[in-house]
Amino acid sequence: SVSSEEPPSSSAQDVENLVIIGSGPAGYTAAIYAARANLKPIVFEGYQVGGVPGGQLMTTTEVENFPGFPDGITGPDLMDRMRRQAERWGAELFQEDVEFINVKNNPFTVQSSERKVKCHSVIVATGATAKKLSLPREDEFWSRGISACAICDGASPLFKGQVLAVVGGGDTATEEALYLTKYARHVHLLVRRDQLRASRAMQDRVCNNPNITLHFNTETVDVVSNTKGQMSGILVRKVDTGEESVLEVKGLFYGIGHSPNSQLLEGQVELDSSGYVLVEEGSAKTSVKGVFAAGDVQDHEWRQAVTAAGSGCIAALSVERYLASNN
Ligand code: FAD
Repeated sequence: SVSSEEPPSSSAQDVENLVIIGSGPAGYTAAIYAARANLKPIVFEGYQVGGVPGGQLMTTTEVENFPGFPDGITGPDLMDRMRRQAERWGAELFQEDVEFINVKNNPFTVQSSERKVKCHSVIVATGATAKKLSLPREDEFWSRGISACAICDGASPLFKGQVLAVVGGGDTATEEALYLTKYARHVHLLVRRDQLRASRAMQDRVCNNPNITLHFNTETVDVVSNTKGQMSGILVRKVDTGEESVLEVKGLFYGIGHSPNSQLLEGQVELDSSGYVLVEEGSAKTSVKGVFAAGDVQDHEWRQAVTAAGSGCIAALSVERYLASNN
């Protein structure tokens, strides 16, 4: 239980092999591998997303591209299976957010509101959060018309063959728009500024694509629905004139970037200018020996469940080697 006293600390001899922070595909995959290697990992699952463990996929419905599920699987079901698999092999799970870590000296310290754990290695798998616009009806339509991942959702029946909109002016938004043209009838790209920020190459591809219409100086105000409560359009406003109009679309994709959940690590391990944990190319090693990172917190490019799981596996195997070479 939470007390005002110091959280209970492990005794000097009681140093854990590994603490994993995060419960998305990266964290649970790392936990499965580490538990099977008999490392008895401690997992801080966190409760940031809706008060439940499982990470970003807890906020989606069907996952159609995770291998092994030919008929698709819901995000929560997939995450529940990963969780149970980690538990079955002996990972110890705590549904608590880590509030503080100190990796300056080994053994490291990882502390939640409930406990303080000393450990020889840490895997950071705290994920990322898609930036949102905070539209008044955003929560109502999240996963029911609003998405932050064209690769994940573009081919779903909700969006296939429909007119869609993408918000943003950088590389993410232009990539999302181009990707969606494979499935959508037409794509509107809504850019708040009077120009794109994307690379020249991406700008050319967007401008030369007849299935994309660019709207500059345009901001998204809210979702508009029909009598059945489905998304039927979005209310947009011209930032220069203030003029408002409804754009008829069946889906709205956010391409305004992600924020890595790396605040915990500031001043502890090296981060890039956007806050992503820097890892050695092709590995899970961070700037601190014994600290590894996996999943979206270190990946601003691919951001898929399967790539997160793959990097969780690499991180756990790296920990195994690291501990063996330090014994
Ligand atoms: P996350 O899933 O982000 O999980 C991170 C976890 O760390 C969370 O549980 C969080 O609570 C926890 N955490 C954060 N800070 C702390 C802390 N201080 N202490 C303890 N825990 C902490 N990908 C696909 O491949 N297919 C799809 O169909 C698909 N659909 C998606 C739909 C939506 C709506 C979204 C948002 C994403 C989708 N993705 C999809 C992307 C996929 O969800 C991510 O790439 C993947 O979840 C990343 O996994 P992760 O383990 O790195 O982190």
